[in-house]
Amino acid sequence: MNVLFVNPNSITKNYQALSSRYAAIETPTWALLLAESCRSKGFKVEILDANAEGLNPEEALKKIRSIKPLFICLVVYGQNVNAGTTNMVGAMELANYLKANEPQFKIGLIGSHIQALPKETMENEKSIDIGFINEGVYALHNLLKLEDLSPPNLANINGIIFRDQNKIIFTKAEIVVPQNKMDEDLPGYAWDLLPFKNKPLDLYRAPLWHAEYQDEFRSPYAAIQTSIGCQFKCSFCMINIINKNDNEEIGIASNYSGMRFWSPNFIIKEFDKLFSLGVRTIKITDEMFLLNQKFYLPLCEMLAERNKDDMNKMWAYSRIDTVKNPEILAKVRKAGIKWLCLGIESGRKDIRLEVSKGKFEDVDVEKIVSQVEKSDINVMANYIYGLPGDTKETIQYTFELSKKLNTLGWNTYAAMALPGSQLYSEALNNNVKLPQKYSEFSFHSIDTLPLPTDTLTASEVLKLRDEKFNEYFSGKKFLEKIEKKFNKKAVENITQMLETKLERKIFDI
Ligand code: SF4
Repeated sequence: MNVLFVNPNSITKNYQALSSRYAAIETPTWALLLAESCRSKGFKVEILDANAEGLNPEEALKKIRSIKPLFICLVVYGQNVNAGTTNMVGAMELANYLKANEPQFKIGLIGSHIQALPKETMENEKSIDIGFINEGVYALHNLLKLEDLSPPNLANINGIIFRDQNKIIFTKAEIVVPQNKMDEDLPGYAWDLLPFKNKPLDLYRAPLWHAEYQDEFRSPYAAIQTSIGCQFKCSFCMINIINKNDNEEIGIASNYSGMRFWSPNFIIKEFDKLFSLGVRTIKITDEMFLLNQKFYLPLCEMLAERNKDDMNKMWAYSRIDTVKNPEILAKVRKAGIKWLCLGIESGRKDIRLEVSKGKFEDVDVEKIVSQVEKSDINVMANYIYGLPGDTKETIQYTFELSKKLNTLGWNTYAAMALPGSQLYSEALNNNVKLPQKYSEFSFHSIDTLPLPTDTLTASEVLKLRDEKFNEYFSGKKFLEKIEKKFNKKAVENITQMLETKLERKIFDI
């Protein structure tokens, strides 16, 4: 059996005018991991990255016809937490087009949206023959052994949901790859299967801020994980839905929280492959890279040996209260990690502590940011407006804190009830108006529909987010710091970025 993993193209629909230059184009992590895993078991695999190649459905079909796969597996995640659902826009457009033109194609779907809402997705998306209830590694290994993917055979494959005429059938639940099998059953990335123009990974580009706001550092680019999942249970987050191991029809990520790691000696080899391909701009995608010293310290030491020229431009997420120690930060910096992404979420401790469910100790955010910056590591600060309890005043307070911190990276989203998050099931239970279309879950789309709070409408929350974005990035103190740390060109690029305006339908309602 041969399988084609497809990363669908949703970038234009989700990012509006930002798609042509500013939106990042990330390597498709799970398509790469699944391809390598299936290849290691002897199956023939290929990857079609329609997103990186900018293919429309017609162009994708042409390529798929020439590959002649027996199974087409759409792998739908994304570069930020909501992207698994918003990228369903391009995925379903493609699936419907393929089915309309080649009804005999067998099409599967793996990704966070179907993990969160398996039954609803199969009911709505008639072009999908087989859905996977979690990361899908073992289900795929078993499925690809079949010569015939028709319903009676599928009933014996655990971890899937499939269509038998008008019936939707769950098979028995399947486990995810356990910690002790990570290096063996998820044995790295099939980098060699990605498309490129002139040199490997040149179709991928980092976010502008990661590249110090300069286009020349954005490509070649890759994202890599050294662990999967997160041990925390934030109510707005759906990351842990990937660990799902049951057949719940509305999955809630916090029920599956937990982390699995590749061994440092194994994963460093994947970094080495990237370095040998000339890639130094790298995102470490782990939800909580700086959490477990047993894994990240040896890895940082090995990376430091390979970063003697200090050319690595890497970034990683960190829990905010694990970055207090200057000695640790020095090791992180030596590895070439030049940005840490910190989820500050809200300026108000009570709001922060409520949604973060134990993610934070009560921390002094200003002290921590200053400590990180003293270690010559830039801070990308993340905030959310419209969390439960937020008012116009608390949002202003959060914004004032962000101006005071004056970090070199600033990212704010309007709170969204993402499928797979606790906020989603709470919104359902409370009859809150939820997005009906995939694109309405996107932070940047024209029809985005964030959550209201008790005192603010969804439109008011979004308006505040968009206004504060402009105010922050045009701030004098911020731009002076950018010029001092980077250069004038970085300031010019930021100023140009502000000329690209997002349209929002909700403002006209
Ligand atoms: S800390 Fe919270 S927001 Fe971050 S990945 Fe974990 S659960 Fe999600």
